[in-house]
Amino acid sequence: MQRVAVIGAGPAGCYFAWDVAGRRPDLTVDLFERNAVRPGAGLAIEDKVVSEFPVAFEGLHPSMRRWNRILVSADRHRIWSGGHDIVGVSRRALADHLLRLAADRPNVNVRCLELTGPPDGYDLVVASDGPNSRIRSCGDFGTRATEGQTVYAWLSSPVELPAMFALIPLSGGVLTVHAYPHAPDESTLVAEGDAQVLAENGLLGTPRSKAERRLAGLLHDDLGDAAVRAHTFPWRPFTTITNQRWRSGNLVLLGDAARTVHFSVGCGTALALADARHLADAVASDRLGTYEQTRRPVVERAQSDAAASMHWFEQLSHRSDLGTHQLVFALRTRRDVNSFASLRKRDPDFVASVMREMAGRFAAELEPVDVPLRVGSTDLPRRLVDVAECGGGLRIANRDLLGAVVDEEVAELDHVKHAADFIAVREQPAEGRVLRTELAAKVRGRSKLPVMLLCGSEASLDEVNTLIAAGRIDFAAHIPATTPEGSTP
Ligand SMILES: Cc1cc2nc3c(=O)[nH]c(=O)nc-3n(C[C@H](O)[C@H](O)[C@H](O)COP(=O)(O)OP(=O)(O)OC[C@H]3O[C@@H](n4cnc5c(N)ncnc54)[C@H](O)[C@@H]3O)c2cc1C
Repeated sequence: MQRVAVIGAGPAGCYFAWDVAGRRPDLTVDLFERNAVRPGAGLAIEDKVVSEFPVAFEGLHPSMRRWNRILVSADRHRIWSGGHDIVGVSRRALADHLLRLAADRPNVNVRCLELTGPPDGYDLVVASDGPNSRIRSCGDFGTRATEGQTVYAWLSSPVELPAMFALIPLSGGVLTVHAYPHAPDESTLVAEGDAQVLAENGLLGTPRSKAERRLAGLLHDDLGDAAVRAHTFPWRPFTTITNQRWRSGNLVLLGDAARTVHFSVGCGTALALADARHLADAVASDRLGTYEQTRRPVVERAQSDAAASMHWFEQLSHRSDLGTHQLVFALRTRRDVNSFASLRKRDPDFVASVMREMAGRFAAELEPVDVPLRVGSTDLPRRLVDVAECGGGLRIANRDLLGAVVDEEVAELDHVKHAADFIAVREQPAEGRVLRTELAAKVRGRSKLPVMLLCGSEASLDEVNTLIAAGRIDFAAHIPATTPEGSTP
C-alpha cells in the first residue's frame, strides 16, 4: 500500500492521518476537508479519554473545563450530584489542533476540497466524512439510518455555566437542555424536545434568531442576559447510523461515518479516536481485517448503551410522577454503568436524599427494597417477593394478593385492573436496564395499581433497588417456576 486518501478532517480523520503517517513514513496520506472554518460549540469527554489520547489534547488543557459534579435543575429545584470526571473542550480548538497535528507530518497533505465521491488513484480511501457521509453511499456497506423521536439543536452561549441538565416544563411537555462549559466564558447547550411541543411553544418553525431568543429567555435563570447561538439549525432528529460492513472494495468507514452514538452519552469523540487508532494499527501492520473485528463489538456495546439513554430522554415527558431527587436518580441510572449501590458509594449524600424523598426523613440508610409498599389493603414489608402462578394470574406467597400479568400492550390495562391488586410485567428481552424494563415503566406511568417486575434469576438485588428508586417499578419478583395445570400453589 502506498497512497491513502482520508475524506473528512474531523477527530477520526485527523487522528488516523497523524497516527498512520507516523507509523508508516513510506505512505502518502492525502487528507480532504470541505470546511475551512471549523465547527463551533463544545464536547463533553470523559477525563480518562484525555489520558488515553494525550497527543490529541496536547496544549488544550488551559482552556478545557473540568467537573465532577453535575447540576440538575427541574421544577425550580436544583440538585447537585457527583461522581463524574468529565472535561469540556471546544470543538473548534480540538479540530484545529488535530488538523495541525496531522498536517505537521511530512507525508500528510491537507486539501481543502469537498469531494462528491471517492477519489481515484488511491490504494485505500478512508471515509471519515461524518454521519451523512457521501463517500459511504458509493460503497456497499448495508447502511441503516434510524431517526429518533425527538429533535435537537446544538448551541453555545458566551457564559461559563456549570455542567447541568435543565428540565424545562413547556406547555404539553418538557424541553431538556444538556449544558456544560467548554472554554473560559463559553458553554455548550444541546436542547432536545418533542417536535410538536417545540412548535406549540414557539421554538420550532420560527426563524433562527427568534428561536435563539426564546431559548435564551427560557434559560434566563442560568444565562442571565447572555445570548444563545445555534450551530445546528433547524432542529433535527438524531440519526443513529449502523453499517453491516465497514469495508467495501478499497473504501473503509471510520468514526461517525461507520456509526453514531446519541449525544447524551458523550462518547462519540472517544470512539472516533479509538477507531482511528485501531485503523492506523491495522493499516500499519497490513492487516486491515483486524480493524472491524476488534472495533465492532466495542461500538455495538456503546450503541446499545446510547440507544437506552436516547430512549430515556424520549420518554421523559411520561415521568412527571417522580419527585425531583428520584428524577435525577432515574436520569443517572438510565445507563447500566450507574446503579443504586455504585451511586451510594460514590455520592452517598445524593442517594440519602433520594431515599428521604421516596420514604420519609428516616429512610436515608434504607435500601429501596426495604421501603414498605401498600398493595391492595396489605402493607408489604419488603419489595422483593415470591410469587406463584394462580388461575392465569399471580399470587404473592402467603398473602391474599392477586396480580394480573400484562405482556404486550399498555392497552391491556383497562381490562385487567378491576380484578387485580397489582400488575405484573415481564422483563423484555433487550440489552440494558432501560430497554429491558421499558414496558414495566410504561405500564407504571399509566396504572393506578402497583407494578411488579417479573425478572430473570440473574437480576441482582442492586438491579431491583435501582429500578425501584428510579421509579420504573414498584416491586419485583423472580419469574415463578410453572406449577402443574390445575394445582393451587
Ligand atoms: C448534538 C451533538 C452533540 C454531541 N456531543 C458530543 C459530546 O459531548 N461528546 C462527544 O464525545 N461526542 C459528541 N457528539 C458526537 C461527536 O460530535 C462525533 O461522534 C464526532 O465528531 C465524530 O467524529 P468524526 O471525525 O467521525 O466526524 P465529524 O466530526 O462529523 O467530522 C467529519 C468531517 O468531514 C468533513 N466532510 C464531510 N463531508 C465531506 C466531504 N464530502 N468532503 C470533504 N470533507 C467532508 C466535515 O466537514 C467534518 O469536518 C455529539 C454529536 C451531536 C450531533
